[in-house]
Amino acid sequence: MEAWSSRIKNRIDGVMILLLFFVFFLSLLFLYLQHIDERSKNYYNYKKTVEKLHLYNQQLDSTFIRSYRYLDNDKITHTSKMFEVELEFLQNNELTQIFGIELQKILLKIADKYNRKIELVESFKTLNARITSSVYYLYELSRQIKNNGKLQADMESLLSNILFKIGQVFLDTDIDALHLKEDLKKIGTQQYRDEDLVYFYKHVEQFLQDVKLIQKILVEQNMLNLDETINRLNQLLEKEYLQSQKQEDRITLIFFIFAFIILIVLINTYFRVLRKKEEVNYLAYHDTLTHLPNRTEFERYISGLIEKKSKGMKAFAILFIDLDRFKGINDTLGHDIGDKMLIILSKRICKVIGEKNFLARIGGDEFVALIERKKDIKKIEVLVEEVASAIREPIQIKEYSLNTTASIGIARYPKDGRDKSTLLRHADSAMYHAKDMGKDTYAFYSKKLSVEIERRLKIEQELVYALKRNEFSVSYQPQYRLDTKEISGVEALIRWHNKMLGNVSPEEFITVAEDTGLIVELGYYIFREACKTYMAWKEQGVHINFIAINMSSVQLRQYDAFEKLKAIIEETGIDAKHIELELTERYIMEYTTDKLTILDDLRALGCRISIDDFGTGYSSMSYLRSLSIDTIKIDKSFIVELPYNKQDVEVSQAIIVLSQSLGYEVIAEGIETLEQEQLLQSFHCEMGQGYYFAKPMSSEKIVSFYHEKQNK
Ligand code: C2E
Ligand code: CA
Ligand code: CA
Repeated sequence: MEAWSSRIKNRIDGVMILLLFFVFFLSLLFLYLQHIDERSKNYYNYKKTVEKLHLYNQQLDSTFIRSYRYLDNDKITHTSKMFEVELEFLQNNELTQIFGIELQKILLKIADKYNRKIELVESFKTLNARITSSVYYLYELSRQIKNNGKLQADMESLLSNILFKIGQVFLDTDIDALHLKEDLKKIGTQQYRDEDLVYFYKHVEQFLQDVKLIQKILVEQNMLNLDETINRLNQLLEKEYLQSQKQEDRITLIFFIFAFIILIVLINTYFRVLRKKEEVNYLAYHDTLTHLPNRTEFERYISGLIEKKSKGMKAFAILFIDLDRFKGINDTLGHDIGDKMLIILSKRICKVIGEKNFLARIGGDEFVALIERKKDIKKIEVLVEEVASAIREPIQIKEYSLNTTASIGIARYPKDGRDKSTLLRHADSAMYHAKDMGKDTYAFYSKKLSVEIERRLKIEQELVYALKRNEFSVSYQPQYRLDTKEISGVEALIRWHNKMLGNVSPEEFITVAEDTGLIVELGYYIFREACKTYMAWKEQGVHINFIAINMSSVQLRQYDAFEKLKAIIEETGIDAKHIELELTERYIMEYTTDKLTILDDLRALGCRISIDDFGTGYSSMSYLRSLSIDTIKIDKSFIVELPYNKQDVEVSQAIIVLSQSLGYEVIAEGIETLEQEQLLQSFHCEMGQGYYFAKPMSSEKIVSFYHEKQNK
């Protein structure tokens, strides 16, 4: 979870960085767009200025229209000044930096041409004024000459003709085409006769010269072509603007694409973080294997329920479901199979309890169900039975057909507890009780149970130190031949005396030791003690065929069990053929599926193998054939009611006959009466063990017991 949360944090940091980057990028974009805006504004300013140059230039050009007339000098001066101002504006801004020499060249040219134009305008103005006034003067003079009346008629018409032509000039007719000079020559021959005519002549001559000059100015002004130069400036601006606009468009596009990508990444990351968060949340409250809610979620749910219920006070029940011997399946077939099994079982349980009820997995093979709808015990029992039988159904995984069962503990709200932990603890206690009752069953929580559980807990606690504190001892119970009453063997039985708990029966603490794993160490202790004792007896002249030692399957599953047992045998010097190992029927069954070899190894060493508590397990007689064992020990539960229980009589007899037919020796345990002994003897049972012959006793007592029997 830690790692998750730190990863999430890193992600969020990442998102923050990305976000900052995005904001930074956007501000850059904003600034850039601002810059572009500024540029285009500038561009329009320049364009406008250039347009103004055009306008002023045209206004100046209009000065040169050849129809001689009155010129508005003020306007011309104003226009030329404005032209200068605009030109200066272009010369004195960043444009020159952008366009460099080309622009400077054009601007210089414009300035040059403009200056020349102004000169031309000035000359034009002067000439124009002169021509206009000379035309007025010529009209005046011709009228005077005509009034004098001294003029010949042809001369008079010549004057009129000349005046007409001068008028034509005003109307923009080419002066050369009018042959004014020839007319003037004609006057030249007559001029000496009239003083006025002389003036007239001179003024026309002057007029012609002025017109020539003005024409020259006009030609030059035409050649000047300032307009075109301004146009070139315009083109230059436009070209640059278009180019920069293209580039800007490209950059803007890239900017937008980048911003878009970052935005997409940002959104994507945001959703990913959200999803991961959900996932982490899910992981925090769910079991990854079965996808059921986990313990935390269960506790949350039950707390909420209690809070709700405390107002309405409705009852509900908790089922604590623990699979029996699941660890064995996990250990022998592997976790893969175990996991698959859990998934299948979780689905089955869900199906039985229904969607309305709550199921959680709170441990490896532990489930809890919360049953809300069923109130009375009967209905709960029916449901629990259904759950148990659903679990009991064989499970097919790969080539294995697996059987498992569950022990179920039930605690009810509010009767058995008013808070989640008490309820859960009590359901757990009830489950343990169900296990103690032989597994594959269920139990309701009760106060009495609590006491038992407490005792079990204490046993668990005390057991841890019992070996160190030397609280264990070993008792020995003789086994004998039923026919001769000879002692054939002795079974070693562990005894525990604890200061607080007093004498604790092995029936009570062996399972605890097995559950906690302490049995391994304890087992070696018993094994060593038994072997040592056997050797001590031997020295004291007690010759017993073998010592029977109970072996827990938990111990034999240890990978180094054989080596360790062998080491103890060597260390104590006992001959292995004097050792009989008592193993439960259940272990023997599992042994064959587990493909273990330890029993064969021990047998090869010389040890005998005996099946303890035979008849209580599941093994069928036919299957017994294949086992590498020596002895079958009929469980005392078949003996206790002999000879009165007909069925037990038949079963025990059948076991004896069949075992012997398979070549196994048979021993009956728990013989308490003479009748029992006699009946078994009549069945040809070879050996027996029980209080009737001898109770378990200390090793010293065995010595005296042995000698007593010998002496008889
Ligand atoms: P078990 O191996 O079936 O041992 C026989 C049990 O029956 C012993 O109980 C013994 O005292 C008792 N018994 C003997 N004769 C009679 C009789 O005539 N009538 C009745 N009612 N009982 C009789 P104990 O010593 O309390 O042991 C109980 C169980 O604890 C044993 O059953 C065995 O499964 C386990 N156990 C005892 N000692 C050891 C040990 O050293 N190692 C292991 N792994 N388990 C042990
Ligand atoms: Ca035994
Ligand atoms: Ca037994």
